[in-house]
Amino acid sequence: MTFTKRHLLGIEPLHPVEITTLLDLADRYAEMGRGVAKHGHALDGLTQINMFFENSTRTQASFELAGKRLGADVMTMSMQTSSVKKGETLIDTALTLNAMHPDLLVVRHPHSGAVNLLAEKVNCAVLNAGDGRHEHPTQALLDALTIRRTKGRLHRLNIAICGDIAHSRVARSNILLLGKMENRVKLVGPPTLIPAGVSDWGVEVFEDMREGLAGADVVMMLRLQRERMDGGFIPSEREYYHRYGLDAAKLSCAKDDAIVMHPGPMNRGVEIDGTIADDINRSVIQEQVEMGVAVRMAAMELLAANLSAAREAAASGVTA
Ligand code: ASP
Repeated sequence: MTFTKRHLLGIEPLHPVEITTLLDLADRYAEMGRGVAKHGHALDGLTQINMFFENSTRTQASFELAGKRLGADVMTMSMQTSSVKKGETLIDTALTLNAMHPDLLVVRHPHSGAVNLLAEKVNCAVLNAGDGRHEHPTQALLDALTIRRTKGRLHRLNIAICGDIAHSRVARSNILLLGKMENRVKLVGPPTLIPAGVSDWGVEVFEDMREGLAGADVVMMLRLQRERMDGGFIPSEREYYHRYGLDAAKLSCAKDDAIVMHPGPMNRGVEIDGTIADDINRSVIQEQVEMGVAVRMAAMELLAANLSAAREAAASGVTA
């Protein structure tokens, strides 16, 4: 088995071998991205449509760049001005776009499960660019590639994921991926921001940040997802920073060579001290952005190959 999926909807259905296959290809694209010639041909002649129903900076830009670097015709829909504003449903929009015969559809949506639903209605490959608090698979994959490149491996690491776990799709996808690759995953945060049922996830939970960070190889910080909060989850930002903001004193509890990660957008002085975020000896936040392009190139190449195999099989009357 290499990579058999038709869509990339989440980390949950992926086999560890598929994760490794994707990361190996992304590694090659990361090297290519550092060279002069950044272009490949894996998506030549294909059409990629990006539909972002929620704001995005890094994810949207890197999906666009990834498609262009591999030769696709890339169209980014502005959902703010589309017919969705006039009341068209997600499915109608998807069917309209489907009629334009895209090969790759990249979708971000505020509702968990919306992207899976859409994937059932179209006949192209669908990539989930973040759905509600459910999953953000390419973020977890780019985090994994960043960890593997800086730590030299992606197993038996001690990884602390800190902050607003309850509302974070990044946390969920990372917990799934890091667990599949046999790491020790620790969640750190106030009880109000730790989801119910977490004890079934194969992780440890810490309320005290210093205890949670002890011995960590990787410290992953998360933003407070205020857009998904419907009440008071923290007493105040000041109090939150005091207890859970990553500063030099708290980071000293982790291993001396621990790396600091953040998916962005960052709120300096809320979940992370600006000097830690900018410390090139500890922070790999810029590498995460760089790996984002490479991982999305790899994901789209693998899905495009599976799509073309399925289309060829259908054309010759064989069920793929
Ligand atoms: N950019 C990430 C996401 O879309 C993390 C965040 O927004 O805090 O989930």
